[in-house]
Amino acid sequence: MDPFTDDDDLAVADSVRRFADEVIAPRAAEIDDSALFAGVHLPALAEVGLMGMNLPERWGGAGVSSVALYLAVEALAAACASTTSMVTAHFLATDAILIGGDDTQRARWLVPAASGKTLGAFALTEPNAGSNPADMTTRASALGDPLGDRYLLNGVKHFISNAAHADFIVVFAITDASARARGISAFVVDRNAKGVSMGPAEPTMGLKGGHVFEVRFDGCEVAADCRLGAEGSGFRTAMKVLDNGRIEIAATCTGIARAALDMALAWAKTREVDGEPIARFQGLQWMFADMATELDAARLLGLRAARLRADGARFSHEAAMAKLFAAEMAGRVTDNALQIHGGYGYSRQMPLERLVRDVRVMRIYEGSSEIQRNIIARTLLH
Ligand SMILES: Cc1cc2nc3c(=O)[nH]c(=O)nc-3n(C[C@H](O)[C@H](O)[C@H](O)COP(=O)(O)OP(=O)(O)OC[C@H]3O[C@@H](n4cnc5c(N)ncnc54)[C@H](O)[C@@H]3O)c2cc1C
Repeated sequence: MDPFTDDDDLAVADSVRRFADEVIAPRAAEIDDSALFAGVHLPALAEVGLMGMNLPERWGGAGVSSVALYLAVEALAAACASTTSMVTAHFLATDAILIGGDDTQRARWLVPAASGKTLGAFALTEPNAGSNPADMTTRASALGDPLGDRYLLNGVKHFISNAAHADFIVVFAITDASARARGISAFVVDRNAKGVSMGPAEPTMGLKGGHVFEVRFDGCEVAADCRLGAEGSGFRTAMKVLDNGRIEIAATCTGIARAALDMALAWAKTREVDGEPIARFQGLQWMFADMATELDAARLLGLRAARLRADGARFSHEAAMAKLFAAEMAGRVTDNALQIHGGYGYSRQMPLERLVRDVRVMRIYEGSSEIQRNIIARTLLH
């Protein structure tokens, strides 16, 4: 038990854990081996309400607390990180509409997305604008005409999770180049709109079932009622969405690390060297003690950020700390868990090497570890 979680949160976590163990975990190896899109799980995820877990009931969501959301994402990640990355990318898209949109837009896009009828993608990164998205060059040029205001979208987005499988993409583009970050606006674009095209799925080291794509916009027309909020409010929306997303990445990391630690504990109790279980070796016991301590510390940081978010308090600083610590911790814990398995950990017959590959990107996306340190230092030095 911890000071941030209540009985309702634990009940949500329990039911997601049971679902994830029974339905999601059994296909994790297959999804990784064949780079099968984790969308194969969409009907099941939709049925239990997971695709709208981040949304209020008013818009068809589960209406659970941010702490319950953390625990749900953690449980899902312990079963399959690829599936979790597809779901959390969908959350980025729907969070952007919830935060930046008006009620008409929320009713239009969130209700079908929450029920899993539609899948979202979130397109911020560009080939030359990752850590600093304000360097983006994708342009939305306003066209006032008698048929109604429209924009023409031109540019390229890179590493966009879910994009080719998605129904809608939240796209960030410049509407006023002279205003830098304050000149960026957010739009919801139909994935099948004229002028939208995709490259093939990017081959990646891990998260092989969470496909990422290059997305091109060549004169794609977007109606003005697809703009989220006022012109120039897009960057602020993106930053708020990423604050939420960082808590979900922290939860993904603690889920993956917990799975790795559990596997290593079970292995160490049965694997014998010199006629005794390797768990008897003090060198490994200390490794376990460090892994469990770091994992708990990461969870507490993540749950604290989630609690602040649930209470409506500011949490950017705490979310950055949670994401930084959890991503670095999960790298160490999965690596040690592989080490404890010896050669069997390195073999593709065991899940450990998949966890090591899957967790690596957590230190890179939604703001790398270096960017999280910048965010934390900025608050400290303010
Ligand atoms: C699997 C995957 C899925 C993704 N999904 C999405 C998605 O759905 N939507 C989306 O918009 N993007 C997505 N991304 C993009 C991701 O968010 C970016 O890759 C990430 O923000 C880093 O940007 P970059 O790759 O351009 O690296 P760069 O910005 O080029 O950074 C290179 C290195 O420089 C360091 N660095 C940069 N600036 C600083 C600084 N100021 N101080 C210190 N160090 C610095 C970085 O930490 C990094 O180590 C995804 C990426 C991957 C790999």
